[in-house]
Amino acid sequence: MTVVGSIAFDAVKTPWGERDRLLGGSAVHFALAASFFGDVRVVGPVGDDFGEEEYAVLHARGVNTEDIERVAGGKTFFWSGEYEYDLNTRLTHETQLNVFADFQPKLSEASRESDLLFLANIQPELQREVREQCPRTRLVALDSMNLWIETARDSLVRTIEGVDCVLINDAELRQLTARPNLVQAAREVMDWGPHTVVAKQGEYGAAMLTREGYFSLPAYPLESVIDPTGAGDCFAGGFLGYLAAHPDEDLSHDALRRAMAYGTALASFNVEEFGTERVQRLTGEEIAERVSELRRFTEFVDAPVPLRS
Ligand code: AMP
Repeated sequence: MTVVGSIAFDAVKTPWGERDRLLGGSAVHFALAASFFGDVRVVGPVGDDFGEEEYAVLHARGVNTEDIERVAGGKTFFWSGEYEYDLNTRLTHETQLNVFADFQPKLSEASRESDLLFLANIQPELQREVREQCPRTRLVALDSMNLWIETARDSLVRTIEGVDCVLINDAELRQLTARPNLVQAAREVMDWGPHTVVAKQGEYGAAMLTREGYFSLPAYPLESVIDPTGAGDCFAGGFLGYLAAHPDEDLSHDALRRAMAYGTALASFNVEEFGTERVQRLTGEEIAERVSELRRFTEFVDAPVPLRS
């Protein structure tokens, strides 16, 4: 898998505490989650302030950082945001693109030949430049957010036209299409080109529309949620990770449903602590256990009852 997206320092405030400098970024959260399933290569720039400690977090999970470009004299992407009691809604205080402002991606041969490509949240034209360098990829998925819908919608739509799967927040899907109904909004995006749309619904789970049908999975019922930052990217990491682990499987509705269960499991771990802390300590056994618990939500007794007309 190859991912392009933000590599960041985040300042995050939630009702349970605050941190002023966490390793974050959409590409970092994705890479750590996806690393449980296969090889991951990260594409993107960092500044001088991105040190050995940050690289070590990625290397500890076997993430390939050869395509991370260190810009001398540059500063790493910075984001700060806040959540109130409703953790589904977040307020962005500040976004500093820094080294991303004039980044021109040049992918190595190995990154261009990846089986799967994730265009994590970042400027849409940058996502497109990366997509164009990977013409043979089996599946290209994309995420985005309100900032890009508000400031670069036309470019984002062009980028979406060239991908297979869009994974995006439900509110952002509505904003992108100006359609209040989620199914209609997903259909509109599918009319632009993608065969699959996944609407992430925070603590309510995620819903998926493919050309074969509809599927929805609730979130794992956690008693304690500390920081939702990166949940969407970890969802994508589990989702694409499952597909990467099955290179010969068709990208059928059923395969994508199974991928949703892995996405849901990975996202649930990420929100249990600040930043990447929980995922750094995660084990494959813990993931497998949570997926098998999730399986119970999708099995129910099909006992027919006599219905009156
Ligand atoms: P998520 O919670 O999955 O949407 O992703 C959170 C991550 O996205 C944080 O670690 C931020 O560094 C990063 N982020 C926030 N805003 C942006 C943006 N406009 N473009 C790219 N990445 C962003």
